[in-house]
Amino acid sequence: FAALQATDPEIAEVVLGELDRQRGGLQLIASENLTSPAVLAALGSTLSNKYAEGYPGHRYYGGCAQVDRAEELAVERARELFGAEHANVQPHSGASANLAAYAAFLQPGDRVLAMDLRQGGHLTHGSRVNFSGKWFQSVSYTVRADTELIDYDQVRDLALAYEPRMIIAGATAYPRLIDFAAFREIADEVGAVLMVDAAHFVGLVAGGAVPSPVPHADVVTFTTHKVLRGPRGGMILCRAEHARAIDKAVFPFTQGGPLMHAVAAKAVALREAARPEYAAYARQVVANARALAAGLAERGLRPVSGGTDTHLALLDLRELDVTGAQAETRCELARITLNKNLVPYDPRTPATASGIRVGSPCVTTQGMTEPDMAVVADLVARAVRADQTTQEGERELAAVAAEVAELVAEHPAYPR
Ligand code: PLP
Repeated sequence: FAALQATDPEIAEVVLGELDRQRGGLQLIASENLTSPAVLAALGSTLSNKYAEGYPGHRYYGGCAQVDRAEELAVERARELFGAEHANVQPHSGASANLAAYAAFLQPGDRVLAMDLRQGGHLTHGSRVNFSGKWFQSVSYTVRADTELIDYDQVRDLALAYEPRMIIAGATAYPRLIDFAAFREIADEVGAVLMVDAAHFVGLVAGGAVPSPVPHADVVTFTTHKVLRGPRGGMILCRAEHARAIDKAVFPFTQGGPLMHAVAAKAVALREAARPEYAAYARQVVANARALAAGLAERGLRPVSGGTDTHLALLDLRELDVTGAQAETRCELARITLNKNLVPYDPRTPATASGIRVGSPCVTTQGMTEPDMAVVADLVARAVRADQTTQEGERELAAVAAEVAELVAEHPAYPR
């Protein structure tokens, strides 16, 4: 770090400023986590210098013996941890992993059935502004208006009506377990490939806290930086029969040289995730999310679907007459970082939204447990109600910020 400070004090200041932000507030963004110093060490290593197009033993560059070992370890660990026949650890991101999965199984113009973006799906699940919606024919399923759960009857009806080439299960803002066996049955009925985008919950799978999609899906894609607590990046698991197609879809079809420092950091994160402490962490992530959702419900913020089985909760703020955007701003002023989010059948635009999404991965990494979640729920509920344009609201947000500072000082992120 001394070298960075000497060469580029401005960027050094940004790095320290961000560390202060992560330490000084409550990080409730459901898709984030606080990686270990070991993962950060691999990320900040000279492996970043190495070109390694291709796969271990079959590279287009010399000098790959060390990075080959890193990739082999990452692949072995991923296969073992998830019980998968094949793993590709090279995708630069979750979106890249999804692009490669599409490329492995589909031709442009093919039909894909996936969850509606406005109801919790991801951009890469058929949004018109994304490759998935521009180059493929997208059909969306929704959640039921009464239960706010995936409507498997509707998924089946849509599959029978549209005969998609691929069906995607997985979402960015769905707090409940997904019935992978039901999706498998529907996919088999119409002869579709089943892809599970496990980006959000794969860390819970690694820790044994939720069921695994691996036995059911043809292909499982995910990001490595959410609950799994690795570096930013993507990964793909698949059956052996699809290994060649997936590998070719990642390189050379959608990517060039892999980020070998990130591949090594993925290996480190997978090793960490195979430990018993990580299984305890994953269970605590779910227990904390449940406690947080229950605490927020007691304080008038309605959890979509009534609660959560995972690491995240979606809160509908319509009864409070506060928009998601207002809540996000107010929380930020109180040093609580979370995001506005559409709720199912939301009449608002994504930029305003009627809800917020909260997640427990970061606070659980910091060692917080259920009693702390009651405190966090109280702080969030107070911040959401405090209008910063009034003197009273401003005072309340300052008071909440001071209590946030006390709480995070007891559970420091990156202890000094
Ligand atoms: N898939 C899902 C379900 C996600 O939630 C995300 C990111 O939040 C992605 C894919 C994309 O990951 P990335 O941002 O790394 O491209």
